[in-house]
Amino acid sequence: MRAAFLGPPGVGKGTQAVRLGDKLGLVHICTGDILRQAVAEKTEVGLEAKRYMDAGDLVPDEVVVRVMEERLERADCTRGYILDGFPRTVAQGQALDKVLHEHGQALDKVIFVNAPDDVLVKRLSGRRTCSECGAVFHVDTLPPKVDGICDNCQKPLVLRDDDRAETVRERLRVYHNMTAPLIDYYRDQGLLIDIPGERDIDEVQSMIEEQFSGTIAT
Ligand code: AMP
Repeated sequence: MRAAFLGPPGVGKGTQAVRLGDKLGLVHICTGDILRQAVAEKTEVGLEAKRYMDAGDLVPDEVVVRVMEERLERADCTRGYILDGFPRTVAQGQALDKVLHEHGQALDKVIFVNAPDDVLVKRLSGRRTCSECGAVFHVDTLPPKVDGICDNCQKPLVLRDDDRAETVRERLRVYHNMTAPLIDYYRDQGLLIDIPGERDIDEVQSMIEEQFSGTIAT
């Protein structure tokens, strides 16, 4: 099973991609996490990616495609994977199709989780991320047990630079211009599954799992 999550920033696709990966026993590959790790480790890719990420822009296709090609070659991908945050442009989608095709493979499903912009701005600016383990909380909808502290590792929670209100608006603009064309790209291939992202997290999870009912062992 090879599935990808598509949707605007803040719609909850990361949370759902992790849950689906756990349920299916498949690796969850988040491009944003890979890039953030590269930034933290100050690798060549990280140094290149940082200025785009801080501004809320997309990292250039050739950098992301190179990173993802390498990632998908790893042994943990042989049984399949759940992609989160890739592809994010039609050029990346075409590059992924090409790589998969060369291996006699294809994407099986694309889960498109959607919600209106005003809901997303509210969600993202209230999001708090653990500075240590990357766990995500929300001041209103998913508060930590102790204000400002991670439930898992007790380290401080921070507002990610790219979750600041002005950067969120830029990320949404980039999403509508650059990523939204992938909706038709995958709809035309018959792969797209529409999921309303405004609902409660567990409800969204159930709707997604229904789409994989043949794959999930009960
Ligand atoms: P995310 O955590 O998925 O919101 O990603 C954070 C940032 O990483 C984005 O705002 C982009 O700057 C960069 N990024 C993540 N995935 C991609 C991608 N597929 N293509 C280009 N840039 C990406």
